[in-house]
Amino acid sequence: DSTLELVSLTKRYGSTVAVDAISHNFQAGVYACLLGPSGCGKSSTLRMIAGHEDVSDGSIVLSGRDVSHLPPAKRGTAMMFQNYALFPHLSVRDNVAFSLRMSGVDKPERYKRADEMLDLVEMTSLADRRPDQLSGGQQQRVALARALITRPQVLLLDEPLSALDPFLRIRMRAELKRLQRELGISFIHVTHGQDEALALADEIIVMNDAKIEQAGPARDVFNKP
Ligand code: ADP
Ligand code: ADP
Repeated sequence: DSTLELVSLTKRYGSTVAVDAISHNFQAGVYACLLGPSGCGKSSTLRMIAGHEDVSDGSIVLSGRDVSHLPPAKRGTAMMFQNYALFPHLSVRDNVAFSLRMSGVDKPERYKRADEMLDLVEMTSLADRRPDQLSGGQQQRVALARALITRPQVLLLDEPLSALDPFLRIRMRAELKRLQRELGISFIHVTHGQDEALALADEIIVMNDAKIEQAGPARDVFNKP
């Protein structure tokens, strides 16, 4: 059971309170969307869960373990960034395998797992290309493979579809949903698009002004008057 609990989680930047004592339980294997206007604290929340931002107050508990102060690689989470952040001089395959370099996994196992991940995101045929020889959608698949190869319990996605054209965005929605179902892990996906959240989410958490305004199944959240 890998429930993720946020307990009075708070982020301050100087005198700005970006995240104001939010509490929420994410069930294991849920597709959750964190929805809200620009500046409401979505990214700060995600970055604290990932460990890319210090927690000011409160805690993050994953499978009963307080991970609030662990380094990102030790939490059981992985993050996929908006700009994909691939290494330009490495092939697709090496980009994916690289994630495991610091984890003590030996080289044959790293490449075995990289190939499994490339198969999962349907990029096997392009494994030897460099990132600049890929389309935006293909780069995104590589970034997904790179995040998933560490076998996280929770994948964090910050506006993962915003750089794609509208056609590709719809296609990648289905792809994200398929991956989440196939892997059975939790996805927490930050977006400011209501239609995106409605199309993807089992659960929607609406943030406004650094707080959680409402949370629940998509149909309940959008049916409120
Ligand atoms: P969202 O992802 O919903 O757009 P953010 O978490 O990025 O919201 O930002 C929440 C608030 O925190 C905003 O007021 C933003 O200006 C502020 N903020 C975010 N990052 C920083 C930072 N590194 N330093 C100072 N203020 C920040
Ligand atoms: P080292 O730790 O010895 O420096 P790296 O993990 O950096 O090795 O890999 C060096 C290069 O060797 C990589 O860029 C990759 O192209 C290639 N390589 C390593 N292992 C494999 C493998 N199992 N299959 C294909 N290429 C590999």
